[in-house]
Amino acid sequence: MHSGRLAQIPVYAVFSFYNKLAKANFIRSGVKSMDLKIALAGNPNCGKTTLFNSLCGMHRHVGNFPGVTVEQSYGVPVSFPQARIIDLPGIYSLHPYSEEERLTCRFLLEQPPQAIINIVDAGNLTRNLYLTMQLITLDIPMVLALNMMDEVQKQGITIDTALLSEHLGVPVIPISAANHDHVDTLLQKAVFVAQNDLHPHPIPNTDFPVVRRCIQTVSGVLQPHLPPNATTWRFWTECVIEREIPLTSEVIPSHKKEERSPKPFVLFSPPDKKETDIISRAITELEQRCGTDSRVILADMRYQMITQLCSRALHGKPEPYMTPPQRTLDDFFTHPLLALPLFFCVMWFIFCCTFQWIGPFFSQLVSYDLEKLGILLQHGLEEIHVSAWIQNFICKGILGGVGSVISFLPIILTMFFLLSLLEDSGYLARIAFVMDAPLRRIGLSGRCLVPMLIGLGCTVPAVMATRTLSSNKEKTKAILLTPYISCSAKIPIFTMCIAAFFPRHRVILLLFLYLFGLIIGLLVCALFSRISGDHSVDSFILELPPYRLPKIKNVLLLLWEKAREFLYRAFTLIFLFSVFLWLLQSFDLHAHPTSDQSQSLLAAMGRSLIPLFAPLGLNDWRIPTALFAGFGAKEAVVGTLCLLTGTTAQTAAPALHNLFPSVPSLFSFLTFVLLYPPCIAATATIRREWHVRAAALRIIVLQCIVAWISAFLVYHVSSLFF
Ligand code: GDP
Ligand code: MG
Repeated sequence: MHSGRLAQIPVYAVFSFYNKLAKANFIRSGVKSMDLKIALAGNPNCGKTTLFNSLCGMHRHVGNFPGVTVEQSYGVPVSFPQARIIDLPGIYSLHPYSEEERLTCRFLLEQPPQAIINIVDAGNLTRNLYLTMQLITLDIPMVLALNMMDEVQKQGITIDTALLSEHLGVPVIPISAANHDHVDTLLQKAVFVAQNDLHPHPIPNTDFPVVRRCIQTVSGVLQPHLPPNATTWRFWTECVIEREIPLTSEVIPSHKKEERSPKPFVLFSPPDKKETDIISRAITELEQRCGTDSRVILADMRYQMITQLCSRALHGKPEPYMTPPQRTLDDFFTHPLLALPLFFCVMWFIFCCTFQWIGPFFSQLVSYDLEKLGILLQHGLEEIHVSAWIQNFICKGILGGVGSVISFLPIILTMFFLLSLLEDSGYLARIAFVMDAPLRRIGLSGRCLVPMLIGLGCTVPAVMATRTLSSNKEKTKAILLTPYISCSAKIPIFTMCIAAFFPRHRVILLLFLYLFGLIIGLLVCALFSRISGDHSVDSFILELPPYRLPKIKNVLLLLWEKAREFLYRAFTLIFLFSVFLWLLQSFDLHAHPTSDQSQSLLAAMGRSLIPLFAPLGLNDWRIPTALFAGFGAKEAVVGTLCLLTGTTAQTAAPALHNLFPSVPSLFSFLTFVLLYPPCIAATATIRREWHVRAAALRIIVLQCIVAWISAFLVYHVSSLFF
């Protein structure tokens, strides 16, 4: 439809469409539309998720790193269940650059909450208040939460909250989200402003007469075109003056949603030629009188107002952003030559703890207990004269499949414990900074480190984390790369196989496997850059967070979430897989029960795949079967191998030597597992994030080809040495 015709649609139609959209979204997310919606908005890393968790008693991922939250989350505050709290991704301004920033802006404009809690990092007030100035122009009831007051107080700074409140026209509450200080007072205030519909007082800009005149002229022309109940006229006016939205486009067509503009511009009718001329003249006059671009003029005005305000409201000499020891640490961690070797050493240490020193110890304890449980269960079942078939099903089918997967949980948790310490301390942000230059050569930026690190846990959130990247090209490459970062579900496969063949060289081989996956992923990205002929990457601005002592509560909550997720998968997906595979191996082609596994239906299915795997040195039908199960969930590979060999993860070594008659065939298997497509859930996420239907299928085919060729090469090259 032509945009001119769209403008003829009465405004209530446009509004009712967005209202319906908003309602539909809320109903889908389990939130009733009549609930009091309170949104948390603020800069990245200012403590929104910490506040959300503190208010709602939830355990969302908190990290000392910008870009951790990429989706809105809904929660019910414990102390006021009639309200709904919405945690939004962080934004620096209402003119977004990346997808998750766009999500926040669109949310605030299209589904305006009854109140906004604007969280600011009180230790970084000047920069954080920039967004506050813009949020106020939305004219939604708002409360300013000064977070991290514990840190500010330690620095001996006091903040005159009454003065801030008077100048900004919104209530100001000092809090410490991490310590749950004054969090309930904040919520009460937010509920109060929402229920009484208390809008922010407009900030007087009398010190800037030229800008004020321009705003008056432009808003005078725009106001008759805006819906009668539109409270956001000041916001739209500033958008028009900053040329963030073209005057003529009323609704952004869906195919252009990726563009920078955060919102559909809901004008009742477009300004006519005369009105557009008045607006253009007012902006040109402003620019001529100030001698610079209108965007710079407005930004300058906001910063001048903030600086004046902060100089009056902040008392006490603030400590420098980083203390001298922290600065030395920073020089060391971001040193052009030392930083990467140091990171390698840190990862080496993490791998040693995970796979050699701590993880296996607890893993053995768990599998010992599971073994005892198996024996007890078997005795118990024999005692009550349960048939051998059911005994076999429970002890081998269920305990064999699920139990062997669970025994790897301690290894996975050890890795996450150490990684979350790194993340919470602020070190990972330094690594993103250091990695920026090398990644830029293949058209990625340091920001990609976030999805890559999340990918060590699970590919699903990692693919979603690519939303923090500002350009679509970079996002595409990052989506291609993330499946090559080994997720935690592959740890059981690697650990079991490597422990069986090279018990003393576990760490080096595992580190090598992870690196190999990364190198192949980077090569695929480089190839994509070359084919698409685009190496350019948008400039990358990363705010380096201050060093913080990791909060043990955050780390433990993260571990608990991981463990819960893992056990849930083990007892649902892996359980179903184990039962299904056990049934397939218990019946032959004619659906008669069989005790000879090689005559089973499963064996027949596995054998049909052997021609594909024989060139990789994998001739046993149980291998393709296990790999096939891995499409559902990677943990199922171990479960299936244990089930089919009648062993547990700890006793599988002799059976594995049988399955892989030579070291090259083991290497080939590990390479294939490392590089073949991720599980169904990850593939579905790729499909959703890529916005192209056929893309996921193409990626699966590409990954299968890359995995097959790599395994083939690894098999034949390693055959020369072993
Ligand atoms: P978000 O990006 O705005 O969601 O911020 P997060 O909630 O993920 O928190 C960022 C970092 O700030 C984490 O390391 C938190 O532990 C830390 N943090 C949050 N609130 C406070 C607080 O009140 N005091 C202190 N000292 N640290 C906090
Ligand atoms: Mg967050």
